Amino acid sequence: ALVVRHRMRSSGRCARAAALLKELEERCATPLGKLRQVADAMMVEMHAGLASEGGSKLKMLISYVDKLPNGDETGLFYALDLGGTNFRVLRVQLGGKEQHVVKKEPKEVSIPPHLMVGGSDELFDFIASALAEFVASEGEDFHIPVGRQRELGFTFSFPVRQTSIASGTLIKWTKGFNIESTVNDTIGTLAGARYYDNDVIVGVILGTGTNAAYVERANAIPKWHGLLPKSGEMVINMEWGNFRSSHLPMTDYDQALDTESLNPGEQIFEKLISGMYLGEILRKVLLRLANEAALFGDSVPPKLETPFILRTPVMSAMHHDNSPDLKVVGTKLKELLGIPNTSLKTRKVVVQACDIIAKRGARLAAAGIVGILKKIGRDSAAKDGGDTPRTVVAIDGGLYEHYNIFSECLRSTVKEMLGEEASASVVIKLANDGSSIGAALLAASHSQYLDVEES
Ligand code: BGC
Ligand code: MG
Repeated sequence: ALVVRHRMRSSGRCARAAALLKELEERCATPLGKLRQVADAMMVEMHAGLASEGGSKLKMLISYVDKLPNGDETGLFYALDLGGTNFRVLRVQLGGKEQHVVKKEPKEVSIPPHLMVGGSDELFDFIASALAEFVASEGEDFHIPVGRQRELGFTFSFPVRQTSIASGTLIKWTKGFNIESTVNDTIGTLAGARYYDNDVIVGVILGTGTNAAYVERANAIPKWHGLLPKSGEMVINMEWGNFRSSHLPMTDYDQALDTESLNPGEQIFEKLISGMYLGEILRKVLLRLANEAALFGDSVPPKLETPFILRTPVMSAMHHDNSPDLKVVGTKLKELLGIPNTSLKTRKVVVQACDIIAKRGARLAAAGIVGILKKIGRDSAAKDGGDTPRTVVAIDGGLYEHYNIFSECLRSTVKEMLGEEASASVVIKLANDGSSIGAALLAASHSQYLDVEES
């Protein structure tokens, strides 16, 4: 009798697990029609955010970057790139069109954790002294032209409302930073990629957080009352992480994640897509499966109750496990969550959950990109046999770079949405490390010595 009861129980568990997964799959579904609605909503919000300050959840920040580097820049430039957990300083010697980057020297500095939650003065003091030390170590193979001072570009992975090319106010800290007090990593990515390829018009970050910047026509920005730039163009930092729409497929897991976050109600698009959150959504799903379908046995593994214990790189490793017995999944569950001896069936459930969560994120990011392309009229092939301009989207960030299933799904979804013909002229490429070098390049394209030399 005991044996029979045990068997029934275990088949009941399986059925419950299957039902929960099925429900997850349905709630996270992103069929083409839904993605089109998301892309259209993105476009509508872009218009609204450009029309007036506060007109949309999308801030559509004017960056004052009205000329992107084109490869002609020469001289020595510095960059400072402040990201999620570390900052990078970099110097580059630019040699113009023929030589491009003659020499570069990066240095990575990690930010002591207590400075991430303290006052901004201490953080910026720390950064300033690390930068001073780096400048002091400049070798003889770098040359600063006579009569010039060193110029520095500063990219920042947080939303900044800029007041000019060289000043700005931080709007809010995202991604677990909590500091009051300063140009954006998406713009760095756009500039870094544009330096080598003139057709780059969109820069996207898919990493810890997510965001996009693109080149807009200056006269399509009603909220801007300044002088129109010579180029007729202006780079816009969308802050798309804060996009939200009733068309977004939200589950109870997402609602809970949002409520428990440091910024409830904000950055909803980011919370469905970016590296900071995917692993945490997975953890919530597994926890429910443990509770309601005894996925990991009679008791719930205590470690699974710890928020953010399951990071996206671990999720990615499990998702990419190609071994027949899903060995990597087994090892991660054991090492990270203290769950020994999982069956192949259980491991398969975990991989399926990874698949649903990662692909929803990738497809939504793709819809966001298509929304931008629609807004600037690059989503369709030229009519009447004319030439369709080449459009390049440069993407940087660890999620896109390392989570292959995610990036492949993103690319194939953009193709699916645009159709064969239009997608033939859209290139999506990895702009590895674009944001720091982009900052130096922006310092170069906006060098205060330029106008002097030109005139
Ligand atoms: C920030 C953006 C940033 C993005 C990528 C988001 O959390 O709000 O300013 O560009 O992360 O780093
Ligand atoms: Mg970065």
